[in-house]
Amino acid sequence: MKEKFDIIVIGAGLSSLMFLVKYVKKHPQQKILLLDKDHDKKNDQTFCVWQGPDIINLTEEFDIQPKKVWGKIMLDFQNRSIKKVMSPYNYKAYDGKKTLSSLLRSCKKNITYKNNCEVVQVKKNGLFYVITKDSSVYSSQTLVDSRHYHNTYDSKEMLYQAFYGSEVEMPTNTFDETTVTLMSFKENKNDIEFTYILPYTKKIALIETTFFAKNPNINDIKLKHEEKLKQYGKYTLLRSEEGILPMGNIKTDKEGSYLKIGISAGMIRPSSGYSMIRIANWINQIEDTELNQQNLSKFRFKSPWLLNWLDKQFLKVCFYRPEMAPELFMSLFSKAKIGSVVRFMADKPTINDVIAVIQALPKKIMIKYLIK
Ligand SMILES: Cc1cc2nc3c(=O)[nH]c(=O)nc-3n(C[C@H](O)[C@H](O)[C@H](O)COP(=O)(O)OP(=O)(O)OC[C@H]3O[C@@H](n4cnc5c(N)ncnc54)[C@H](O)[C@@H]3O)c2cc1C
Repeated sequence: MKEKFDIIVIGAGLSSLMFLVKYVKKHPQQKILLLDKDHDKKNDQTFCVWQGPDIINLTEEFDIQPKKVWGKIMLDFQNRSIKKVMSPYNYKAYDGKKTLSSLLRSCKKNITYKNNCEVVQVKKNGLFYVITKDSSVYSSQTLVDSRHYHNTYDSKEMLYQAFYGSEVEMPTNTFDETTVTLMSFKENKNDIEFTYILPYTKKIALIETTFFAKNPNINDIKLKHEEKLKQYGKYTLLRSEEGILPMGNIKTDKEGSYLKIGISAGMIRPSSGYSMIRIANWINQIEDTELNQQNLSKFRFKSPWLLNWLDKQFLKVCFYRPEMAPELFMSLFSKAKIGSVVRFMADKPTINDVIAVIQALPKKIMIKYLIK
């Protein structure tokens, strides 16, 4: 069977689905095919975002419901701890499986969706991209690709955020459900290591062991994580999640005859590994233009240069002096106003926020790396 489409999208992950939810509403006449290798969405991701004034409201824009909203965060290192009330801002967690399923439901009736459909090869036949799957041949002049490509990053000063997390249920009240532990640092000379805790209730929390490292090994991190969990005594394991996310500078894809989106298009923040807000901001900037082969450039993601520059300085410190990184983050959260930090983390800083962030960083570290 041969079928032609206006657009073929590879991968039904976060970037594709958020894009399609908005795009198909504006262009219901286009015939779109969405292909994903998996049968179903797994319960193995949690998407957290900063929300509040001047930041795109994901619940309203994408009709998705958060699992939990927190108004307070804390960080600690050695015997120092910082607690911040974030009002009018907050930190929201979206359940990965529910969010992706909800986004898929919102756009499914306007597209052709095929799961269990791994794209192994895309051939070019004249102006058309051609994908063959079993006895079906799909073709389109316009291709959107959200698969992850590791060679799209500059290898210089490349770090990865690697983490292993467990959602656990304790027999007794254990967690402060009002406060997210953003970074509880451990002393480590070679890598940046911290625990991240999302307390859903007094008894249930997602506890993650996270590393920013040059060459992380997820099995080693899992072992460290299991060791860490022993401090909680008896618990029930509800589910687990893991990831290795690039923290580096993307080689910008200005040309090319197809549209890359998602992680491999730089839609992941180099200094934090967050991408949901960045994806939403990108979609918001796309005008009502119809996506076709002639206007791909209007859809290409361009990362904000000032944020990129500042992220680069963060990454240099994390790369060359990982033992100094806890001080960098502690200083940022203790000295800058929380609104400036949150807007900075959510890709929406004003110039004053950027200045506030730079001023909050330890001078002796930053001066050295700003000019390196
Ligand atoms: C466990 C975890 C937690 C995270 N937490 C956060 C967070 O708290 N906040 C945040 O902002 N970001 C977070 N991220 C980072 C980021 O938001 C996600 O990785 C996000 O899913 C990236 O979107 P994407 O579209 O680029 O990739 P994906 O969502 O991974 O989508 C890619 C899709 O392509 C499909 N695919 C791959 N290869 C093929 C193929 N050959 N053929 C067909 N289909 C294919 C995959 O099945 C997948 O559905 C997290 C990531 C992970 C892994």
